[in-house]
Order: sequence, then structure tokens, then C-alpha cells
Amino acid sequence: MKTSSLILAKKGVITWLSAVMFLLVPLSSAFSVPFPDQSAFEPYQYHTYQELTDELHSLQENYSSLMTVSSIGKTYEGRDLWMVKLSDNVDQEEDEPGVLFMAAHHGNEWPGVEICLFFIRYMLENYQNTSLPEIKNIMNTTQIYLLPMVNPDGVTADTRKNCAPNHGPYGKRSTVTSYGVNLNRNYGDPWFLAYLLPMRYSLPFIIPDSSFNYRGPYPFSENETKAVKVFAETHEFSISISYHSYGEFIVYPWMHTTKQTPDEPLFRSVGENISLMNNYYLMIKKDRLIPLYGGTLGSSENWLYREKGSISFTIEVGEERRPMDPQVIYDLCMTQTAVHLYLCQRAQTIEAEKTMLHHS
Ligand SMILES: [Zn+2]
Repeated sequence: MKTSSLILAKKGVITWLSAVMFLLVPLSSAFSVPFPDQSAFEPYQYHTYQELTDELHSLQENYSSLMTVSSIGKTYEGRDLWMVKLSDNVDQEEDEPGVLFMAAHHGNEWPGVEICLFFIRYMLENYQNTSLPEIKNIMNTTQIYLLPMVNPDGVTADTRKNCAPNHGPYGKRSTVTSYGVNLNRNYGDPWFLAYLLPMRYSLPFIIPDSSFNYRGPYPFSENETKAVKVFAETHEFSISISYHSYGEFIVYPWMHTTKQTPDEPLFRSVGENISLMNNYYLMIKKDRLIPLYGGTLGSSENWLYREKGSISFTIEVGEERRPMDPQVIYDLCMTQTAVHLYLCQRAQTIEAEKTMLHHS
């Protein structure tokens, strides 16, 4: 790829980002987004689990006052589930709103990992950048959590599910019938609905353990979802994104019904702003009667909203599961970094907005 075309394209993105931030963020000023170190992106390669592990720890060493990295659990194959926290006074739990970004519940969907890593580097490298005071302001007023690779076994094996052995829905532990659970079907939802509305909840695909959408024998049966559950129960965050690829659309609760949640106006407002920034399709809730097809049980954003009240989204980034063009990956990272900055700012007011909504 020619450098000149890269630079031109990036200048276009900057101008566009500045304009968007100005429109969407009335509280603080508009800000432009400078380019991080290009060397990481030319030629671009996805990070393996080991490379992610090394990079996170080296960043933590260089920015120890702004970043912690810790393991919230281990996979079946013994890999760590890394949790990154970014904030000032990062070792303390402060009375600051939290946001959460997660990626790679599905091990063959890699762009989200890069989006998280890019954002981590972006925040750290620009903390002292005096031409971008908003970055320091966001870091000083927000607790940012990232789970950049929820399914490292799946990423390593390049497979959708995790890699733990299955024993059938009612099987004996001694018999291995297949491998892997779809972690984004394993969260705690009203699982019994699958039996009441078998077509709507794709019963033929979530019960057989060999299926690509196998939901597991019971909610939170997997190490990875158990770890996310404990993490979520012990940390405060008011907005979250879980990254998947692909499709260029944004979804939010409820996922198991088309009913709107009591926080529909907030989901719509935040979701429409995200959509303006990344130009993805926001799948709004129509509040219809339950249709026959197309519901999801056991996905992360549904559970996070039910349990935490978090304004939680799933975003399917990109036009393909694994784009290889460095420019495409770079643009995904840049655009979603702008979305993250917006969400960190919106998190400052979201709880107050919720209170107003429910008392008006
Ligand atoms: Zn996915």
C-alpha cells in the first residue's frame, strides 16, 4: 500500500472525527484524534494470545500509574483471561463512572481484540498530550475496563466456540461427545424459553453439543463466562460494548424478545450516537409481540443489562469476519476509539439520565 494514499485516507478520518465529536459531545470541546504509531499497523498482523499477553505487560510496565493488567480466570487450556483497567490512581477503586469493552467471545472473530488493544495504547500514549486535554480528562474521571480476549483458547484454535470438552446435554463426565461451547449463548437468561418457543430460540442449534451455537449444559457452565460474571458482579460500569464481527450493526437488550426495556430511550440515544459515528445500522426495538423466529438466549449484553442495569451493546464490526487489509483494520480501530471516547464522556451523565427518565 502506498504511504501517500494511507496518509490522505487518515487525514480524511481525522477531519471527519473532529466534526463528529463536535456534534455529539456538547459538554466538552471538540477534539481531533491524532494517529498512533503507524509502525504497529504496517504491515498489520493480528495479535496472537501470546503477543497480546506480552504487549499488555510491556504497556503496563511503561505506564504503571495508568494501567493494570490482571487475570480474572483461566481457560480450560490454562490461558489467562486478561482484564485491563485504565484510569488515574489505577490501583484504587474511585468514585468514577465505569465503562467496559470486551472482545472475542467468538474465537474466530479477531478485529475486536485489535480495537481494544489500539484503544489501550491510544489512551496511554496520549495521556500527556497537551493538545488533547480531553484524553487526560477522560482518564482522570472514568474507570475504563477491558476484557480484550474473552476466548483465548478459541482464538488460538481459530474456532468460534471455546475448547473445553462436552459431555452431551445430560451426558456422563467420562464420555467426551464434542468440544466447545458458544460463550455468547452461555450467559444466564431464561433458558427454559427455548423449550417453550423452540423455533424462536433455534432449539436445534443450541441443544446438540456439536452445534456451532451450543449453549452449554447450564448457564455459566464455562470458565470464561464464569469469570466475566464474577468480574461484572464486583466492578461498576454503566456502559459496555461487546465486539463481534461481522455485519456493521449494533444491537442491545432485550435480545430474547423484541420488547423494549425500561431504558429504551437511553439505549436509543446512545445507540444512535454510536451509529452516527461508525455508520452502522442500529437495530431498534419495535416493541411488537414476540415473533416466531430470531431471538437469542444467553448473550452477554442481555445479562449485563439485567444484572447490572448497564447500557450494554453488541457491535458487529466490519464487512468480513477477518479483514486482512491493514487500512481496513486501522479504520475500524480509529472509528471505535472515537466511539469509546464518546461513551466515556456519556458515562459521566448516564446514571443521572436514568434517574431522570424513571422519575419523569
Ligand atoms: Zn460473534
